[in-house]
Amino acid sequence: MSATDIARLPLLCTELRLPSVGHLWPAITEQADRDGWPAARTLAALFEHEVAERAQRRTRRHLAEARLPVGKTLDTFDFTAVPMISKARIAALAQGDTWLETGTNILAFGPPGTGKSHLAAALGHALVDAGYRVLFTRTTDLVQQLQTARQELKLAGAIEKLDKYHLIVLDDLSYLQKNQAETSVLFELISARYERRSIMITANQPFGAWDQIFPDPAMTIATIDRLVHHSIIFEMNTDSYRRRSAQARKPE
Ligand code: ADP
Ligand code: MG
Repeated sequence: MSATDIARLPLLCTELRLPSVGHLWPAITEQADRDGWPAARTLAALFEHEVAERAQRRTRRHLAEARLPVGKTLDTFDFTAVPMISKARIAALAQGDTWLETGTNILAFGPPGTGKSHLAAALGHALVDAGYRVLFTRTTDLVQQLQTARQELKLAGAIEKLDKYHLIVLDDLSYLQKNQAETSVLFELISARYERRSIMITANQPFGAWDQIFPDPAMTIATIDRLVHHSIIFEMNTDSYRRRSAQARKPE
């Protein structure tokens, strides 16, 4: 190989989109020359790095797009505060697999401060690490986006774009306004993902109070029906973690 061929290597790596090979080839080929590696071994070493770093870059991209609350992970979640939630169960869910493949939903109910959002974010972080794509959003934010899309006659496309996410966390469903236009886009989303893609919902109020969210009883029932058909429900009826930890800090 001539010196000009070698000089073209950085360019070729860019052209082929091999950034890791691009910055590693000088060191690795030097080591290969020094240690007398067979050419195939050198190639394999370079490609292994490219593949590994590509996976890392993908995970970083997925983490950024997921918009998960920072620091709310399983490591920082105190399971003793919610005895009704099994740590082993959550650890199994955190690996993804079957429940995501079948579009199973998770519904977390409980009063404010009981760790619903933290748990949802923690699952999200673990799933991104496991290679899945997640979107964490306040329900009102996503509903607003979908409403805008509908006004521009782009609702179907907007919902289809969300298909890339194996899991969408709709945080604080109960904060939705009782408003026909708002809740019907949510219903469209839930129907579109039914039995295909998972949704995790956190809400302060259990189903009984959902007729205050959905104006039309038929829509309330249809929504609950689709969500619950394949679902895992966590009732987190404990004291507020925030209040409890504030009390623990207070002197007796
Ligand atoms: P909710 O969504 O149920 O209103 P959050 O998940 O926002 O509650 O929790 C309120 C605060 O308390 C957050 O800072 C959260 O990290 C913390 N928290 C709640 N439950 C736990 C828990 N079991 N372990 C650790 N931190 C928790
Ligand atoms: Mg919350």
